[in-house]
Amino acid sequence: SDNNAPKFKVIVGLGKTGLSCARYFHERGEAFRVIDNRFSPPCLPEFEVEFPFAEVELGEFSESTLMEAGEIVLSPGVSKATPEIAKAIAAGVSVTGDIDIFSRAAKAPIVAVTGSNGKSTVVTLVAEMARQSGLNIGVGGNLDGRASVPALDLLRLGNKDLYILELSSFQLETTTKLGAEVATILNISEDHLDRYESMSDYIEAKKRIFRSCHQAVINRDETPELYNSLTAQQVVCSFGSDEPGNNQLGVVLHERESWVAMGDHLIMPARDIRLPGRHNLSNAMAAFALGQAVGISESAMVTTLREFGGLPHRCQHVRNLRGVDYYNDSKGTNVGATLVAIQAVAERTRGELVLIAGGVGKGADFSPLLPLLDKYVKRVILIGKDAPLLASVIKDSTDIMRASSIEEAVLEAAESANDNDAVLLSPACASYDMFKDFAHRGRAFVAAVEALS
Ligand code: ADP
Repeated sequence: SDNNAPKFKVIVGLGKTGLSCARYFHERGEAFRVIDNRFSPPCLPEFEVEFPFAEVELGEFSESTLMEAGEIVLSPGVSKATPEIAKAIAAGVSVTGDIDIFSRAAKAPIVAVTGSNGKSTVVTLVAEMARQSGLNIGVGGNLDGRASVPALDLLRLGNKDLYILELSSFQLETTTKLGAEVATILNISEDHLDRYESMSDYIEAKKRIFRSCHQAVINRDETPELYNSLTAQQVVCSFGSDEPGNNQLGVVLHERESWVAMGDHLIMPARDIRLPGRHNLSNAMAAFALGQAVGISESAMVTTLREFGGLPHRCQHVRNLRGVDYYNDSKGTNVGATLVAIQAVAERTRGELVLIAGGVGKGADFSPLLPLLDKYVKRVILIGKDAPLLASVIKDSTDIMRASSIEEAVLEAAESANDNDAVLLSPACASYDMFKDFAHRGRAFVAAVEALS
């Protein structure tokens, strides 16, 4: 193509992220086109109202458009390995993502959080801590929650003191220089192996969160390789379930009670943290370390940890009916998340568990579930596309039943549960075979549970 032709950005993908990029370029008078290989991408209606004269190409990723691009701006839903994209990259077209664009434009420090599980919980905790201490904050990033705000849209909300971003590995793939004030990888467990060739590709994507960061918070319970790109000066604080050294958060026994402590300074009794379960103790310490790195006071952080009751769809207690507790963990979309949900619910249950699981398994290995199923779960009720796959892995260890809808699964679970048992929806799978998203699945579960009599 003609090197002197005016260059335009090509926004790939017209979901919320693509729309936020279009708004950003439009406001700065930068030329752009939008392409999507779907015929009716999710944000097309809003886009057409806001940009009636913009160029949109639907139904395929046009190679000629991609080749002419000054820069490709990739949405997190589209992999760099998509053949048309890979071809443009090989031809020398540069690729970026909304998070890189955001970090260049943002005028306040960024707290950046990634990990396989606990991101939303930690981001919400840090946000509450910051609000509690009077900061004006922008919170957003990862788009799997429908209420979340894409990073570039945060810039339209006026000046902020602090940005707090939840970042998925997909967003990080296109992030070359985030420059966060403080960044963390909370943990790593298997997820999204349908998109990554191997675990190490997934981990490499996550590690990009540390690029040019000023401070890093690390998890001592994780493998050190996660953090081997960091310098000693960057690592300002670590958290873990063992006893803490200097500048480390951890757990100590004080007067026969577990306390969260920083070095030898006692912060609060672990049981005063309102969020239940060991995984949330880890999330609480991560939030504390991040908050401390941006100067939030200890009293604001302790108050938040005492008061914050958790987000919906994360091990959320729905109701007790005839001695049976019902829990909605629809956000348990991978094996690691379901493991902690089973553990946390089992710790609060005198009887046994009935688990509702299944959906889109994303190529995961389900066998790590077996020990906890053996220990706590009397029956698994399977739903969704990968129910047969799950069944083949667990059928020898646990009693299984199949259900064709969440309503049927809830009825079967209610029949299976006795006094003091608990029914837990924690699918270990994504929801898009049967639902719009995890929140839709969770609402359907809660409605079915509330309809029981
Ligand atoms: P994310 O935003 O990373 O998906 P959430 O905070 O929404 O994480 O939690 C999703 C699910 O992951 C929860 O329902 C819980 O079952 C599990 N989970 C939360 N925190 C952790 C943790 N620190 N380690 C392992 N699993 C966790």
